[in-house]
Amino acid sequence: MIRVGVNGYGTIGKRVADAVEAQPDMEIIGVAKTQPNFEAHTAVKRGYPMYAAIPERAPLFAEAGIDIAGEVDELVAEADVIVDCTPSGIGAKNRELYETHHTPAIFQGGEDADVADVSFNARSNYDAARDVDYVRVVSCNTTGLSRIIAPLEEEYGVEKVRATLVRRGGDPGQNSRGPINDILPNPIKVPSHHGPDVKTIFPNLEIDTLGLKVPATLMHVHALNVTLKDDVTGAHVRQLLEGEGRIYVIPEGLGIDGAGKLKDLALDAERPRGDLWENCVWGESIGVNGRDLYLFQAIHQESDVIPENVDAIRAMFELEDQKTSMELTDRKIGVGISGDPSGFSEQARAEFADD
Ligand code: NAD
Repeated sequence: MIRVGVNGYGTIGKRVADAVEAQPDMEIIGVAKTQPNFEAHTAVKRGYPMYAAIPERAPLFAEAGIDIAGEVDELVAEADVIVDCTPSGIGAKNRELYETHHTPAIFQGGEDADVADVSFNARSNYDAARDVDYVRVVSCNTTGLSRIIAPLEEEYGVEKVRATLVRRGGDPGQNSRGPINDILPNPIKVPSHHGPDVKTIFPNLEIDTLGLKVPATLMHVHALNVTLKDDVTGAHVRQLLEGEGRIYVIPEGLGIDGAGKLKDLALDAERPRGDLWENCVWGESIGVNGRDLYLFQAIHQESDVIPENVDAIRAMFELEDQKTSMELTDRKIGVGISGDPSGFSEQARAEFADD
C-alpha cells in the first residue's frame, strides 16, 4: 500500500485525494492546507488527517474546530510520495522540502518542466516515469492534447498538429479572474507556449498552438487540425478515438452542443463535483480532407489530470504496467462513458434529435 500525502488541497488536490483513496493499492495519509476554509472541512469529513502547510497558521485550524495531525514536513517525512497540488510556482519552491526528506513527489502542470525529471501523460509516456523520483503531470490542456495525439501518432503517424485553444478565464471559484466581457488572444504572441509543453511529452512532434481566453468557467474547447502521415477516413478516426478509455466521442442526437450541456450531463450522471475526466470530442466534428483531420474537443480543466496523477504514482513505484494501471484507475474512479449515457430511450433520443 503506497502512502500518499497531498500538499495543497484546492481544485486539483481535493480531487487527487479522492481518486487516490478510491484505489486498492494506495491510501491518503494526510493533506496539507494553508487555511481552514470550506475545503479543509470537506477534508475532515472525508477522514483525511489535516496538516498545517504553514506552521504559524496552525492555531487558525484549532480556532475553526479542526484538529491538526501535524505540520507539513511531518507529512512529507511519513509519506511514500507527495502529490504537490499547490498554486503554480509554489511546487518548485517545495521541491527542496521533499528532497530533504528523500520523499518522491509529483508536481502539476503549472510548474515549469524542469521542476521534475519527467513530464508525464499516462497514455503517451507511462514508462518514462518508471522508478523516477520527481514527475510532473502536465497541464489540463497538454493532457487533453497528448491523449488525442498518442493514438493518432501510433495509428497513422502525425506530420503536424495545429491547435487553437479557447480557454476558460478561470475555474468556477476563481472570482478574481477574467475576462468578464471580452475575448482575449492569450498569449497574444503566436505560437503559444502550449505547443512546447506538448513537446515535453512528444519531443519530436511538429506542433503550433494559439491560445485565447473567454468569459467562461466551465471547460476549455480545442479546435484541432492534425496533418497525418497516412490518408484516413473520418469513420476510421472516429472508431480509433472511440476505442480510447479517456476519450468520449459525443454521439450525435444527444443535443450536446456545448460545454454547458456536457457539464449538465456529468451532473445528471451524479459524477462527483460534476467532473468530466475524459476528453470530450464532438463526433460530428471529426472531418477529414486528404491527410488533414479536423475536430473539436472540450476539456474539463479541473478534472482531466486526476487519473493521470494516480497512474503517475503507479509508474513511479513500478506497481503495474501502463494498461493495467490505466484500466484500474478508470474502473475505481468511474472514468469512461460508453453507450447512451443520458438515460434517454432510443425513441426519446430520436424525438430529441428532431427538436
Ligand atoms: P488552487 O488554488 O485551487 O489550490 C491550491 C491550494 O494550495 C489552495 O488550497 C491553496 O490554499 C494551497 N496553498 C497555497 N500555498 C500553499 C503552500 N505553500 N503549501 C501548501 N498549500 C498551499 O489551485 P489548483 O487549480 O488546484 O492548481 C494547483 C496546480 O495544478 C497548479 O500547478 C495548476 O497550474 C495545476 N492545474 C490546475 C488546473 C485547474 O484548472 N485548476 C488544471 C490542471 C493543472
